[in-house]
Amino acid sequence: MNEKGSNHLLLKRSNYHLIKRYIYQHSPISRVEVAQQLSLTTPTISGVVTPLIGKGLLREIAAPAPEGGKGAGRPRVMLEFVPTAYHICGVDVGPYWINYVLTDLQGNLLASRHTGNVLNEYDKTLALLSREIPDFLTEAGSATEKLLGVGICLPGLIDGSAGKIYTTFQPGWTEHDLAAELGQRLGVRVVVENNARARMIGADLFDRSVTAEPFAYFLVSYGMACQLMIDGRVLYGQSAAAGEIGHTVVQRGGPVCPTCGNRGCLEALAGERAVLRRCRELMESGASTALTALCADPEKLTMDQVLKAQDMGDEKVNLVMEDVLDYLGIALANTINTVAPRTVMLDGHILDSERNRDLLLGSARRNMFRVHVDKTRFCFLPYSPDRGARGAAAVVVREYLLNSDL
Ligand SMILES: [Zn+2]
Repeated sequence: MNEKGSNHLLLKRSNYHLIKRYIYQHSPISRVEVAQQLSLTTPTISGVVTPLIGKGLLREIAAPAPEGGKGAGRPRVMLEFVPTAYHICGVDVGPYWINYVLTDLQGNLLASRHTGNVLNEYDKTLALLSREIPDFLTEAGSATEKLLGVGICLPGLIDGSAGKIYTTFQPGWTEHDLAAELGQRLGVRVVVENNARARMIGADLFDRSVTAEPFAYFLVSYGMACQLMIDGRVLYGQSAAAGEIGHTVVQRGGPVCPTCGNRGCLEALAGERAVLRRCRELMESGASTALTALCADPEKLTMDQVLKAQDMGDEKVNLVMEDVLDYLGIALANTINTVAPRTVMLDGHILDSERNRDLLLGSARRNMFRVHVDKTRFCFLPYSPDRGARGAAAVVVREYLLNSDL
């Protein structure tokens, strides 16, 4: 093929993805609106839409009649994706749980399973997922031919779009290609992504009404991350290490971080692991705290118990949380001062309480460049143990529906 011919094919393919993605993110929408917004002709739009309708992925619906009965005549035809065209399995593999969800194409939850299993060395995790995923799908009544794919999210330096795991901080992971090995065992397509990035992709694709770009996704969990989406693109950076805000240093000479080995990084001071460590130290020091009544064994202390003690007005626990949220606010302000996102989405168990949200925003606003204080939109997401797995399902939509030739 000559150069002109191959350029034409490339353009056609890129238009195909662009149109598909635009309809997915703005449906229901008419062909004319898509053509106007993308500066393409309506025949170009129809050239993409007609085969998608033929495959059962898109459908035409009548636009709702305008109020007041005006505009009578032929109703406008709108396009939307058929949510039930495929099922997707999302799996969140983390330090607290391995959770499974089954969703439709729009991220609506069809089934979920929560387990007490956790991220482990590679071979054990692969064997577990190879058993549990088919079992979950059978229980949920999902047929293999209806499955668009399986998405796995886990903490670590992972480039989902390139299918590369740099590290998960657990033994045996770097030598393996989980997506390929698990895909072979299950007989379905598998995609793997970093857990915070998957949540951000989930927010972008499944909860799109709440985003305005550039947007930042701030997750506080065992550690924390702040992922970024700029011009519709997920920022990966070198070694897929973009967004690792947990390893920015906020205290000179502070405690050693068990993950990166440096001193005084945010994770060592303010992640859930740090909160639990500091609360355990309180209990072991014999300090008067409600935690001793809530939990007999400091080694078994949970975030639920810490948040309960805080709710009960425990002064010592409150002091820990104020300190932690002050650090988190400083790190968030530093990100905002660097990237200037329009929207910041915030996700995390410790951010489920109004008091902790106020503490975080108070600290962030004190440390933000003034120009951002009234303009940055903060959006707190309700805490949900399904959010990571749902994000993993969104990665499947991105890879196998929107960025594919399907
Ligand atoms: Zn660190």
